[in-house]
Amino acid sequence: MSGAYPYTLKKLIETFSLLPGLGEKSATRLSLFLLFKPELCETLGELIKELPYRVKLCKFCRNLSEEEVCSICKNENRDPHILCIVENPVNLSYIEETGIFNGYYFVLHYLLSPKDGIGPKELGLEHLTYLIKLRDIKEIIIALSPTLSGEATASYILEILKDYPVKVSKIACGIPMGMEIQFVDPLTLKKAIFGREVLKEK
Ligand SMILES: [Zn+2]
Repeated sequence: MSGAYPYTLKKLIETFSLLPGLGEKSATRLSLFLLFKPELCETLGELIKELPYRVKLCKFCRNLSEEEVCSICKNENRDPHILCIVENPVNLSYIEETGIFNGYYFVLHYLLSPKDGIGPKELGLEHLTYLIKLRDIKEIIIALSPTLSGEATASYILEILKDYPVKVSKIACGIPMGMEIQFVDPLTLKKAIFGREVLKEK
């Protein structure tokens, strides 16, 4: 379809098509939109080029940060003994917005999926156990979506934490099975965190 376009435009369309959710039609529309907008192209180009070098994982919680330690981990007014495990930075911000949680976080970035080669290492679980000791964590809240892979990951984490003196709970009540956390309304999410189900006492 993009055969008749000049080389650079054609390459841009092909590259945009590699992005999730963008088919060739949307990629073409975006590319044509950018065509006569040099300032926007320059800003986008610079931001995209810098992105992988500027944004890193916080050395404690694996949240996204431009510094070695993210703003949440830097905040000393939070409860250091409670840690909330989330799948990704989107869910972390969403829980932050509810304002109900005042501990620290741990971001997995993935859910277990052996067929895609995603195991405990990719989830940073070794780092999690290191943090438990380092911060003297007393309670862990597993705040993963109640989907099949979310549940499998939660069970695996619980198994790993068996030998650690921490209380483990899981947000549950009110969130329909199979639903992603980011689509749950804030009130239900608050209730789910508040009424979390204890999986293991200290
Ligand atoms: Zn952090």
